Amino acid sequence: MPRIAYVNGRYVPHNHAQVGIEDRGYQFADGIYDVVPIVKGTFIDEDWHWDRLERGLEELRISQPVSRKALSMIARRIAKKNMIHNGIVYVQVTRGEAPRNHKFPTTPVAPAMVVTGRHLQMPDDLSQPDMIDVITGPDERWARPDIKSISLLPNVLAKQAAAEAGAYESWLINDQGEITEGSSANAWIVRRDPDSGRVIIQTHQTDQAILKGIVRTAIVALAEQHQWAIEEKPFSVKDLMAADEAFQSSSGNMIRPVRSVDGRTIGSGETGPVVQEILNAFAHHVNAQID
Ligand code: PLP
Repeated sequence: MPRIAYVNGRYVPHNHAQVGIEDRGYQFADGIYDVVPIVKGTFIDEDWHWDRLERGLEELRISQPVSRKALSMIARRIAKKNMIHNGIVYVQVTRGEAPRNHKFPTTPVAPAMVVTGRHLQMPDDLSQPDMIDVITGPDERWARPDIKSISLLPNVLAKQAAAEAGAYESWLINDQGEITEGSSANAWIVRRDPDSGRVIIQTHQTDQAILKGIVRTAIVALAEQHQWAIEEKPFSVKDLMAADEAFQSSSGNMIRPVRSVDGRTIGSGETGPVVQEILNAFAHHVNAQID
């Protein structure tokens, strides 16, 4: 079955899908994207993804190419045409095509929108994912990673560094020696407060330094229901190495427990009890949306 992509109003065979060479996404990375997970044919936390996409467009002053209702319909059509049971839908919107000039086009151009779908292998039981190994490296991105920009070169280089080190992901360190997030995931640790002995689940706060991940949002919401103590503040590399457990979250990979960082085992090196509880609750959160 041929893959089908949506490009500016048309459904076309994926391998013939094209945008112009003066698309501002191609020339300036002047655009944003989002990735919505599909589990057993169901879009997960869909509205949160469209909220984020709309916010990104507003931040960059790119007009919305189609209404949210139309976008949702196009995304569903792409999922259906590509027969995606487990996978993702990828949406990219750029400022459109115009003669190359850094400033915004003076004559209005229509934003360009591409939607594609991809199958992904997912564990049958979302609460039992494989562990991953992580390396650390400098956070060399622009100052607004909260916008899901298609300008991803530092992320690409960080992910490649991980692959070359035989790891799965790079977690990024800012100038203060703190972990911001992963190259394509939010980063978390589980630690015990030295004074109270309380278990704390910690991740960087949602300011301009990180992407407000949708799986992160779901975990924060679950924490309220389950009365887990979440601290939204940066943790250092030292905190990470001393953590009892660590994990990362993203729509493409959901929650993945971390076995090691820079070759050093975290905790017992197995999925720990707190991460397992988060995995169980998250799997329930996803399964509850599946019709
Ligand atoms: N941080 C970065 C830099 C990402 O690229 C991603 C996902 O692609 C995430 C965090 C996780 O976001 P989400 O949970 O919405 O997939």
